Amino acid sequence: MIEFIFTVDYEIYGDGSGSLKDLVIEPADLLLGLFDKYRVPMVIFVEAAEFDLINQYKTDKDIDFVIRQVRSAYKRGHEIGLHIHPQWYNARHDGARWQLDRSEYNLCILPEERIKAIVARAKNFIKFMVDDQRFDPISFRAGNWLFQPTQPAAKILYDNEVRIDSSVFKGGRFKEYSVNYRKAMINGYFWKFEEDVSIENPDGKMLEIPIYARMVPFWQMVTPKRFFIEKGYERYHQSKKGRWRKIKDYFNLKYPKKLDFCRLTERELKEMIEFIIKTDCKSPSVYKPIVAIGHTKDLRDINAVEYLLNFLRDYKIPVTTFSRIYMRMI
Ligand SMILES: [Zn+2]
Repeated sequence: MIEFIFTVDYEIYGDGSGSLKDLVIEPADLLLGLFDKYRVPMVIFVEAAEFDLINQYKTDKDIDFVIRQVRSAYKRGHEIGLHIHPQWYNARHDGARWQLDRSEYNLCILPEERIKAIVARAKNFIKFMVDDQRFDPISFRAGNWLFQPTQPAAKILYDNEVRIDSSVFKGGRFKEYSVNYRKAMINGYFWKFEEDVSIENPDGKMLEIPIYARMVPFWQMVTPKRFFIEKGYERYHQSKKGRWRKIKDYFNLKYPKKLDFCRLTERELKEMIEFIIKTDCKSPSVYKPIVAIGHTKDLRDINAVEYLLNFLRDYKIPVTTFSRIYMRMI
């Protein structure tokens, strides 16, 4: 049995560039309008740190719109998840642009007390954004998918009422940060974990529901749509080193292709879902929560998202959220 979870990372670029209007408010408005039309929920991973800082320093006139948009989405039944890019908390604005703190890029390698302070602050800002002090986000996604070393971050999140992580995609690897999710490839559609998010541990307290990904030959990753999205990034990320790393990544024999409803074309989305449906026919009794990912800053083609929603409707595949399925999964 398949259930679909649409997650959207709600944020501007990771180096602090770009406007809230272009990269967050307008694309999120299109997505929310579409999901409301189809009467299905989304999980919105709100990157708390950047909005906290932008709000504090009032560097973007539209920050109040962002807060109103999140509040309204929450009131309409969309799930708000916790997403943290910790490099924001020590950020300074020099009058023209943000200077982020690269030494705090990976939450998981920071001292325990620092992780505790960051998680508490991020959670507090989410409570303010949704205007509900009793609200505890149940789901988490690490900034840049970096959720190793998993402890003590996972325990700190658990102590803050988070129960589900969705940072992993099977086969994912970030050599520069010593993060490797290849061990997760032998796992099922979700698993409990303790010491390492990529290793199943039936006694673990936290649940991993990974972003769905398939290993494909590198050339399948190159489509005109992806090329234009990457071009958008390049305007902001001119580092040659970064580009070379990306080229080398492409030449890995296989590459994990995420189920990304903002980056994949209609054809790619169709192929991926057909593969999932075919797999489900062989094991219909196995529960398969399928997590799709998108980023507000990547949305170029809302029609592809509508195509996917129609496809799911035609195949009677329900769309749900982490909080709605959690009790069934433990
Ligand atoms: Zn992010």
